[in-house]
Amino acid sequence: MQTSIPNWLMQRAFLTPERIAVYDGQEKKTFMELHESVMKRARQLANTGVRKGDIVAVFMKNSVAMIECIHALHYIGAIVLLQNIRLTSHELAWQLKDSGAVYVIADDELADRIEGNIRVITMSELSALPEENVEFQQYYHFDDIATIMYTSGTTGKPKGVLQTYENHWWSAIGSALNLGLNENDCWLAAVPFFHISGLSIMMRSVIYGMSMYVMRAFDAKKANELIIGGKVTIMSVVSAMLQKMIADLGERRYPETFRCMLLGGGPAPKPLLEVCKAKGIPVYQTYGMTETASQIATLAPEYSLTKLGSAGKPLFPSQLRIEKDGQVARPYEPGEIVVKGPNVTKGYLHRPDATAKAIRGGWFYTGDIGYIDEDGFLYVLDRRSDLIISGGENVYPAEIEAVLLSHEAVEEAGVTGIDDETWGQVPCAFVKRKRGYSVTVEQLKQFCQAHLAKYKIPKQIYFVDELPRNASQKLLRHQLKQLIPNNENGAL
Ligand code: ATP
Ligand code: MG
Repeated sequence: MQTSIPNWLMQRAFLTPERIAVYDGQEKKTFMELHESVMKRARQLANTGVRKGDIVAVFMKNSVAMIECIHALHYIGAIVLLQNIRLTSHELAWQLKDSGAVYVIADDELADRIEGNIRVITMSELSALPEENVEFQQYYHFDDIATIMYTSGTTGKPKGVLQTYENHWWSAIGSALNLGLNENDCWLAAVPFFHISGLSIMMRSVIYGMSMYVMRAFDAKKANELIIGGKVTIMSVVSAMLQKMIADLGERRYPETFRCMLLGGGPAPKPLLEVCKAKGIPVYQTYGMTETASQIATLAPEYSLTKLGSAGKPLFPSQLRIEKDGQVARPYEPGEIVVKGPNVTKGYLHRPDATAKAIRGGWFYTGDIGYIDEDGFLYVLDRRSDLIISGGENVYPAEIEAVLLSHEAVEEAGVTGIDDETWGQVPCAFVKRKRGYSVTVEQLKQFCQAHLAKYKIPKQIYFVDELPRNASQKLLRHQLKQLIPNNENGAL
């Protein structure tokens, strides 16, 4: 029998109608008010022709209106395709076509970025439309696709991840079983809703009956004010955001009311974790991906001292293991991180091959390398596709990048392998220097020598103005080689 649960927002509006659902600094809505505006938007969407089962793209910046549109599409029974607003028109057009979306709802100022044969509905157009009666989904079926979200495209072409209601439900429950729920919780959504880090906050809000504060675009100063003013108790960040917040914070400290800084999305540099520890910031390091509907493992702060750098243990409903040559690895032995759980996707949209490759025997192969210590704590090392094998030794670019980043003159660093006659491959680094700092290649190599084994020291270091990044600001290591000056290509 298929599991279904009453429509989440409807149920929430029925259970706790007066509680604040969402606040953006100006507009404040209770769950009942949110439900009412969602019904209106759903009827307006029905007027444009949106029907149950349609794939409808959302191309918007974080806002109360965006939350309403996502819920409204679910009320109709449509599948929501979340699109990154930093994509180029070309990338966006490709994803829209690949997905088979029939409509795209867009912020007015973003609408002219949309190309191709798709019906564009701008927010001002939608808001002016008359309402048309439509049947609302009274229940959400666990097996149904709620959202489609493309991976960041860090290791290849982005893939559309199918996220079911079940995935979102268990992701929210797993998070609560780990972080706990507090009556006064308010989660600051400063990460975008088009990423799973942001969307999962929206899902938790209705499932838990928890308020969320929506930030249109991340602002470190404002985020610190909200935390210090006791307005928010939990926040999701990536390390670049946290770094900016710490710089703005200065000598100030966060109050006790702030109970969780959920840090994920990529590797967390150790110096950053150390600063947080010194400042008493309750950082929970987490590991997850689009395919796991956000967190799959999270480290509680009581272990932040003893397990510094770990991404913790799997969430209650999930499992995680390390595989090496088809066998479960021993403690500390690096291998592929393999996960399982009701929050894990059932596959990729229109990609049976990629799905069959990633999901085997009920386990999802993440493509990331890590190890588990003797106590079961996960340490993420790097992506399998970026691994450098030098003279038979495994070299993880992330480790070298972290060392370079700990140098005071380095703003950004990227490492990749280049061919070498003696060693097969050797690491090569690309460094963006901080403005006003000067450092030479020799000095950086010496710095690396003090922190890294000999075979990990970059053979070449190039200074560059910019590193290649995707729309999620993730480093595209496979493009780094293109930064090598032309006349040196052959010489390497
Ligand atoms: P693509 O799959 O298209 O290459 P992507 O993997 O970057 O893109 P996301 O789903 O946005 O797309 O990112 C998830 C990835 O981010 C993880 O697989 C992992 O490589 C990295 N990541 C997430 N959390 C951590 C962490 N705590 N430490 C190290 N890496 C992390
Ligand atoms: Mg991925």
